[in-house]
Amino acid sequence: FIRRFPDVVTLARARVDTVLSYWTGLGYYARARNLHRAAKIILQEYDGVFPNEFESVLALPGIGKSTAGAILSLASDQRHPILDGNVRRVLARYFAVAGEISRGETEAALWQHAAAVLPKSAALAAPFNQAMMDLGALVCTRAKPQCGVCPLVGNCQGNALGTPTAFPVRSRKRVRPIREVTFIILRDSRGRVLLERRPASGIWGGLWGFPECLSGETPVDWCQHRFHIRTTRAKALPVMNHGFTHYVLKIHPQTLRVSDAAGAKIEGKDRVWITPGAPGRRGLAAPVKQLLEQLDKTG
Ligand code: SF4
Repeated sequence: FIRRFPDVVTLARARVDTVLSYWTGLGYYARARNLHRAAKIILQEYDGVFPNEFESVLALPGIGKSTAGAILSLASDQRHPILDGNVRRVLARYFAVAGEISRGETEAALWQHAAAVLPKSAALAAPFNQAMMDLGALVCTRAKPQCGVCPLVGNCQGNALGTPTAFPVRSRKRVRPIREVTFIILRDSRGRVLLERRPASGIWGGLWGFPECLSGETPVDWCQHRFHIRTTRAKALPVMNHGFTHYVLKIHPQTLRVSDAAGAKIEGKDRVWITPGAPGRRGLAAPVKQLLEQLDKTG
């Protein structure tokens, strides 16, 4: 990704499809779309030069308070606190913050601690923030904090209580609901499959994938209704589970045969026939990529 888009201008001028294709497999596609939108704003509004004011950085798509603070402290020696996952854990343990981590008051308390411990000198903000992130990533780790080698051990309240891993206080676990969907894998006489571009918003926004219907629908009828074409049911492929933050998507991939003439009828700007082994420069969601690889191997 970095080799293909080495600077803001190159990224801003790329097509969103190209950006998403280089992001394939990295997950969190909203990040790629936000990077692209941010690059366009920087090119249009700041002549391609990354802004230097906190509020301007914070206004860019996908950048929150902590990321803005990290960018400006590390790149411009400005004095801003940060609160990423690692720093949040270190502070929650060091100050034995008792509130549930997902609550607004706890977040506010952690920001206050982050601001209070930041060195007064702006020149020290960058090494301090980097050290806090490193400490959380390497020493004060989630499951096994290495308090014995930690430079903060002398005053750490979590360690003094003997229960550092009790912090940060996790919210009670919710069981993620399951949603089911059928991936319609249309195949023509040459073994090609139909991909369509997903709407820009929603899951896998802007990526290419198989048409999909609700799992209760009959794929042949669905194709007749949606595309006005006749299809014949071929093979049901093994069910796949794909986890999102708030739910699990249970995918039923179903292959269907379609005549070349009917296939040609439904092709368009946002719907293409591709060979499974050569999807071209298109952003693909992980299960779609996996299915294409599988189809490429098995034919
Ligand atoms: S002493 Fe232990 S709990 Fe406290 S910050 Fe260091 S590693 Fe984390």
